[in-house]
Amino acid sequence: MVIIVGSGAGGGLLAMELALANIPVTVIEKGPFIKTVDAFKYYDEIHEELDLLKTTCIGGSTLVSAGNAIRAGEDDFKNLGIDLSTEFSEVERLLNVHELDDLHIGNSSKVFMESAKKLGLDPIKMPKYIDEDKCIICGTCAFGCPTDAKWSSKDFVKIAKDNGAEILADTEVTDLIMEEGIIKGVIAINDGKTMELFSDIVILSAGAIDSSIILQRAGINAGDELFFDPFVTVGGILKGAGLNSEVQMTALVKSKNFILSPHFSKIIYDEFKEDGINIEDIFSIMVKIPDESKGFIRDGNITKINSLRDVEYIAEGCATAGFILKESGVDPKNIKSTNIRGAHPGGTAPIGKIVDNNLETKIRGLYVADASVFPKSPGAPPILTILALSKRLSKHIIN
Ligand SMILES: Cc1cc2nc3c(=O)[nH]c(=O)nc-3n(C[C@H](O)[C@H](O)[C@H](O)COP(=O)(O)OP(=O)(O)OC[C@H]3O[C@@H](n4cnc5c(N)ncnc54)[C@H](O)[C@@H]3O)c2cc1C
Repeated sequence: MVIIVGSGAGGGLLAMELALANIPVTVIEKGPFIKTVDAFKYYDEIHEELDLLKTTCIGGSTLVSAGNAIRAGEDDFKNLGIDLSTEFSEVERLLNVHELDDLHIGNSSKVFMESAKKLGLDPIKMPKYIDEDKCIICGTCAFGCPTDAKWSSKDFVKIAKDNGAEILADTEVTDLIMEEGIIKGVIAINDGKTMELFSDIVILSAGAIDSSIILQRAGINAGDELFFDPFVTVGGILKGAGLNSEVQMTALVKSKNFILSPHFSKIIYDEFKEDGINIEDIFSIMVKIPDESKGFIRDGNITKINSLRDVEYIAEGCATAGFILKESGVDPKNIKSTNIRGAHPGGTAPIGKIVDNNLETKIRGLYVADASVFPKSPGAPPILTILALSKRLSKHIIN
């Protein structure tokens, strides 16, 4: 039997692959089974000092993803001797990753691409896992897709369940059971009741924050490093842009130190609302950077430091976004920004330090398969890479 803790990007695929291989699987997930459209209600509480976005429910944060699919950090893993090219191709096929058709690329996203091109920035269409036949172009990917047009790990959990996996929702793993350096199982709580579940293989896929907290309780030094791919959204007024109801982030400008993508943020709109500006007149761009892993987790508390290099990268990205906004017709005297936020926590149990190349910890049978194991921040959407890592681990366990 295999116990998988967490059903997000890392856990969902493993549950499906192992169940399809007739391996008995139990998935233990802290959050409930929900309708995807309700996902916005399951965001974790945001702390004023650290704006970190993640959700607690079956499928984890994949339910609120923008549907962006990039081979993030592929070379970083290659440098560690891990070639994920086969697994990337496999998961791209599983999710039907493709560029959206023209109808699903909104007008302001097209304006973004034209302006970026004029500035010599080489924009591309963002690869997505969204089914155009089901997508109603509502712009609410990050709230939870109303038609399930966007893939989420919930889809894989359903396949796992249909193939015999046991799914324990609303159940939180609090500790590990170990004996002489070998994993024996987990301790979990459901509805106030503590239970013990036994297995000689336990895979932590609780996300970079929670997996590291569980590892620390088992005496492993995880959580000494943390990245979260900081981002800001900067924007202004462009009459009739309509970005708010477009599929978000359909275009991409990739630079060494940042990525840019058209992205509506209500925070920007709220800044302009009092001046009588309409929601459809907001035109804004997300600036996201690969940050240094200068964060840490102690006693369940998260600390994240923005290094000088991080701030320089954000400034460089914002300046470039400013040129695109100006080229698109936004008055540069009237550009506003959100605060710094993060939606890709990772790096808390990096390969080579906390797990080996097979994602196993020093406790035999205890693996980590989620964003924790990234060696450094990819500064780009990590789901495809997490799925590729899980696919690779599933083969290791099955064989
Ligand atoms: C708004 C938003 C948009 C995003 N868009 C994209 C995108 O377009 N493309 C992309 O690649 N990435 C995107 N991301 C990032 C991506 O969703 C995450 O990086 C990814 O889901 C992380 O995968 P994971 O397996 O590490 O953790 P998660 O997907 O967060 O899964 C962890 C799971 O473990 C559960 N859990 C936690 N603690 C416990 C416990 N103690 N016991 C049991 N269960 C537990 C959680 O409830 C959760 O279900 C986005 C994120 C956000 C917030």
